[in-house]
Amino acid sequence: MYDLIVIGAGAVGLSVARYFQVERHWRCLVLEKEPRIGQGISSRNSEVIHAGLYYPTGSLKARLCVEGKERLYHYLERNTLPHQRCGKYVVAATDQENELEQLADQGSANGVSDLELIDEVTACQRVESLAPCTALFSPSTGILSADSWMRHLAGEFQAAGGDLALNTVFCDMTPAGDTLQLTVADPAGDTMTIQAEKTVNATGLSALEVAEAAGFEYQKRGYEVKYCKGSYFSVPDARGNFQSLIYPLPTPNSLGIHIRLDLLGEVRLGPDAEYLPDNVPVYTVDPALETEFRRQVRRYWPAVDQYPLEPDWAGIRPHLFVENSFYQDFFMRSEVDSDCPGWINLLGIDSPGLTAAMAIGPYLETLWA
Ligand SMILES: Cc1cc2nc3c(=O)[nH]c(=O)nc-3n(C[C@H](O)[C@H](O)[C@H](O)COP(=O)(O)OP(=O)(O)OC[C@H]3O[C@@H](n4cnc5c(N)ncnc54)[C@H](O)[C@@H]3O)c2cc1C
Repeated sequence: MYDLIVIGAGAVGLSVARYFQVERHWRCLVLEKEPRIGQGISSRNSEVIHAGLYYPTGSLKARLCVEGKERLYHYLERNTLPHQRCGKYVVAATDQENELEQLADQGSANGVSDLELIDEVTACQRVESLAPCTALFSPSTGILSADSWMRHLAGEFQAAGGDLALNTVFCDMTPAGDTLQLTVADPAGDTMTIQAEKTVNATGLSALEVAEAAGFEYQKRGYEVKYCKGSYFSVPDARGNFQSLIYPLPTPNSLGIHIRLDLLGEVRLGPDAEYLPDNVPVYTVDPALETEFRRQVRRYWPAVDQYPLEPDWAGIRPHLFVENSFYQDFFMRSEVDSDCPGWINLLGIDSPGLTAAMAIGPYLETLWA
């Protein structure tokens, strides 16, 4: 009998399991259908530690991003894991200055206290290759190696006595008094039942299906997840040209095609946003997207046309819709209404899920209090 079973060994599941096992001394089990941890959304993203500007004040995204960022930096520093506080410039054309100021105001209201609005002259001095533009500088934005971080979370979790079951698929759940009975299967299809007091569904792209399999009828109530693909192009010859990330202003369903850096200084452009028909996952990048990528990036980095672009990789966001409206926030619910308060569903854990991950465990604890 476990205190807690977490389904899904991505950044969110591992952070939640580590919190309860290491900091709360609960007896925890993580179930993961793949043979290795961190092979889902958490391995295909921009690896940016977001500051917390973009999300409506008071939303879960705003609160958990700002708190998660602090917890994440602390964790990475304490364990000397690879990361860099490289900072970020959000750039705006002359007719977008009001939007940039609104973003700065929202960031401040969310508790991001170090933002700096800078004029055209200063922006061009700091990043010489930028087109003339005003900018918002966010010094607390950074980048990390998600893979190193997740491996460390899993290692610490197991060293503290936590169990990790790889190649183990969650199949269904039956409430039994105050406990939950989970049926799981191995790759040969053999099943077994495990008991827990509490369970967190942290299965990323599969979270709605897992919730349904556990008996929570979200689809009947108009909930739907749409797969939103984001492609990236690499710019190999621009390696080392940028010290900070460069973002345009966000659009309703994405943060915009930005200049993304990794810890080796490699430059990538992306991600765009494209809904995938019938939620069939596709991770290849269509070379024909290059024209649109150049058009969008040229507006703030005219020199992009001097460099060849190479189709790189893609990730998929789980966008949650409720009765056909895009649910912009994280959805985190203890199933009290279904008489199953021990079970928590996490749906639509899109960006900034990586940044927020280490604040999610403490938040879930409040749902169970
Ligand atoms: C293109 C893109 C860019 C992004 N950029 C950023 C960024 O820069 N910064 C940021 O903070 N966030 C970013 N995000 C968001 C972030 O990557 C996600 O929010 C986060 O990785 C979600 O983690 P997760 O653990 O919920 O999901 P996942 O990493 O997908 O983990 C879910 C796990 O559940 C497992 N699973 C599924 N079904 C079952 C089952 N039935 N039984 C057992 N296991 C199961 C899967 O195999 C998987 O390992 C980005 C996302 C995308 C797509």
